[in-house]
Order: sequence, then structure tokens, then C-alpha cells
Amino acid sequence: MKKESKIDNYCSSCMGVRNHKTLHEKIEYGSEDYHCRWIYSMVECLGCENISYRSVFEDLESMHDDHENRQEDYITVHTYPIALQNHRSLKRIWELPDQVKLVYDESLRAFANGCYLLTGVAFRAVIEAVCMDKGIKARNLEVKINKLLSNKFITESEATRLHAIRFLGNDAVHEMLKPKKEVLYLLLDIIEHLLNNLYLIDIEISANRNLKGIITDFYQFNKLLNSKLRLFSSEDEFTISTLLGRDSRRIKDNIDFLRDELIEKINKVEIEYIEIGRTEGVKGTKNFKQYFNKKVNKPISAH
Ligand SMILES: [Zn+2]
Repeated sequence: MKKESKIDNYCSSCMGVRNHKTLHEKIEYGSEDYHCRWIYSMVECLGCENISYRSVFEDLESMHDDHENRQEDYITVHTYPIALQNHRSLKRIWELPDQVKLVYDESLRAFANGCYLLTGVAFRAVIEAVCMDKGIKARNLEVKINKLLSNKFITESEATRLHAIRFLGNDAVHEMLKPKKEVLYLLLDIIEHLLNNLYLIDIEISANRNLKGIITDFYQFNKLLNSKLRLFSSEDEFTISTLLGRDSRRIKDNIDFLRDELIEKINKVEIEYIEIGRTEGVKGTKNFKQYFNKKVNKPISAH
């Protein structure tokens, strides 16, 4: 039989059906009683050079029996490694907490291998793993999802979507109801949206110099102060807001807590490049402005 020069095959790297060339091939035939053949081959994507193993079973007998039937009725193709078709994995997946990553990984593998019942169970387990990571404890998953909402880890519409996964997972576990592939793709979207929001987008933002996110911890705040302070001379006095300028909006809701921590660190001499300055009352209120000064000849460093 003549070797095909180009074949269509799913490429897990290009995420689509692409032209492939055959690097090596072995063909085995069925018996005289039943005409069929197995084609085992090593194939290379002509787009990205990704190499896959492909096994094809051709039921030649039923092909000749009925010329009306479709190709997929008598040809079965498997490509390895098995990939979840038309799905791009989350970026920076390694940043997920270990337990969450483990369950998410296994859910993808179950899905790619066509184990739809187990995939439904695994998606439900991803939510359980997220709750565990966030310290959410309750007697059942329904209450846990509601606690994720009341603790502001998720929005109301996200909670509604997670309940849908809970229902499907329950059906899979308790009634052995196999979910449909299309439904699982939809739920995978919800799961990945959740993981992105809770764990990955902030990391992506802080890794991108052109995108500036909200600052909630002292380490990032201190780095920002350092970068701003280089523009000030030692005689200048400033409040946190005047020092940060437009970047004040990045600490808006956390300004009191970050300023208090700064004062505490200055008092403990953990921060030496800034000193606490005068305070000034704000007219008509009990509030006051806290000024700071840049210390002379003190190298700027992050703690
Ligand atoms: Zn490819």
C-alpha cells in the first residue's frame, strides 16, 4: 500500500487539525476472513514540527459493505499524547497552590481521555481544593461556595456558576450520570475563570511592567515608595499621597494600614531611609495629615 505523503492529524501544539508527514509507519492486516488494518505511525506537524504517535484502525470490511457510510464509521484514529482538543491550558499554572493544581491537572487528564463522569467529579473537587486553600470550612460544598461569596473571594454570578458545577458533580457522584462533553467544556471555562481570578491574574499583572495593579501588601508598597523617593530631595517633606502622586490610587483602600505599618517599621528602625515628620490637622475633621522626610545619606533599600 502506498504511503501517504501528507495526512491530516490533530496537533496538540497548534491546537487544530494540521498537515502532518509520516516519519515512520508500520501496517498490520487482519485475517483473510475479515479485512481490516492497523496503521501505527510517528507523525510530524508540518506547521510546528510537533511529533505525535498516531494509531489508525480501518475496518475495510464495513467500508466495502456500504459505500454510503461516513469515514468516521469505519476509521478510528487515536493520537498520543492525548490532548484535550481546542483547549489552551491556563498560563502560569505552576503558580497555583499545589492541591488546586493537582486536582485541576487530573480533571484535564480525565477530560482529555474521555472519562466524562470522572471529569464532572474532578471539577467539583477543584472547588473543594480552592475552599481548602482559602481556609473555607463547612459541612458541605453548598455552604462552602456561599462562604466563598460572603468572604468576597467570588462574585454573586460566579457563585451561581459554581453551584452549577456542584449540581453536576453531585449527579456524577451519586447517580452516575455521565455529563455531556459540551457541558464539560462550559464548566471548564468557569473553573479556569475562577482560578485565573483567584490566583493567576494578579501574578500576571505584577509580572507585566506596563500594567499596574492594586497594592495590598507592605513589600510591594515599600518597593513603590523606594522608586518614588529617588525623585525627592532630602529637604522635601511629603505625605504618602503626595509622594506617590497618581499611584496613590493603587493603595487607596489600604493606605491607613500601609502607613501605620511604615510608621511601625520606622520606629523599630527596620526602615531607615525615611523619618516621621510633623502632623497637621485637617480643618473641620478629627483627621490629620502625617508628613514624612527623606533621610540624608541613607541608602534606599527594601525590607
Ligand atoms: Zn503543529
